[in-house]
Amino acid sequence: MATSLARQWWDIYVRVPESMSDATSAYLSGLGSSAVVFHEQAILTPQHEPCIETWPQSAEWTVLQGALPLDDSLPRHVAALQQWLHTCAWETPGVQLYCRPLRDVDYLTQWQQFFQPLCLEERLMIRPPWHTSPVPSHMACLTLNPGPAFGTGTHPSTHLCLLLLLQCAAHYRGCRLLDIGCGSGILSLAALQLGWQSAVGVDIDAQAIAVATHNAELNGLQDRVQFFHGSWNIVTGQFPYITANVYLGPLVEMLQPVTRHLAPGGTILLSGLLASQETAMRTAVQKAGLAVQTRREEEGWVALAVQRASAEEPGASHV
Ligand code: SAM
Repeated sequence: MATSLARQWWDIYVRVPESMSDATSAYLSGLGSSAVVFHEQAILTPQHEPCIETWPQSAEWTVLQGALPLDDSLPRHVAALQQWLHTCAWETPGVQLYCRPLRDVDYLTQWQQFFQPLCLEERLMIRPPWHTSPVPSHMACLTLNPGPAFGTGTHPSTHLCLLLLLQCAAHYRGCRLLDIGCGSGILSLAALQLGWQSAVGVDIDAQAIAVATHNAELNGLQDRVQFFHGSWNIVTGQFPYITANVYLGPLVEMLQPVTRHLAPGGTILLSGLLASQETAMRTAVQKAGLAVQTRREEEGWVALAVQRASAEEPGASHV
């Protein structure tokens, strides 16, 4: 992890109306931002340096702080964020975006003290490497060090995918899984611990691939999983199971071509969706010829398990 933090980062500050804070956080995470922090009732005073101040009168505004790696993609990511803010909030004066080189690298790892073991339905424990209490013998265990990559299991979008994986594990043991936007590798590695045979993970963030590979080694799973820098289009073959916890824009864009990598009768778990975005996602699901099998919601986030009809059964029932 020390080497991955040695790279340079940029601090990203965005001030948005509170009603846009979840969507903005999802967008920042989707760009590969680490550790998005919410500063509620805050204002941003940017005279010389962006400075966050608590300001009870500005209860309807939130300042989000994220960090993006300083590499070739930074200008593209900042431009995309600017464009997205302009599209979503063009009628809202007061939306602000500031970037500067990150000085307090510690902020990227401070959250680690809050990463406590997570137990899912008494079947799977996910815990950080520095937590060493015994794991009950009836539970599978995944040791995970997300470092600066996204994916500890506590964010609702990841938690929902893990619950859907648990729900499917009963039927799908022994299958191959494709994990699009793998982040820390949490979903592919959890699937392997739950009985999936092998997994391929892809992410457009090279650092996520380094973190996911490290996590595979931490669990002795390196022979059953491969992580690649890129997206779905570098993958070949078909998978009975695909997970994609990204966010609405790329999910809608990729769903149709990704369906070609889904085996007949296979399932895609779509997550990273705000409840307000579900209708748009369902429209794309229908266009891709898929059917929603299961829906789960948590804290305003939604995940859908969608299925491709099997060769013998041209239509499938919808939820
Ligand atoms: N899978 C992890 C989880 O469930 O916690 C991480 C999900 S995080 C919300 C989204 C990840 O998708 C980020 O690591 C980001 O770099 C990656 N990502 C965004 N757009 C992508 C795309 N078009 N193809 C592949 N990865 C993408």
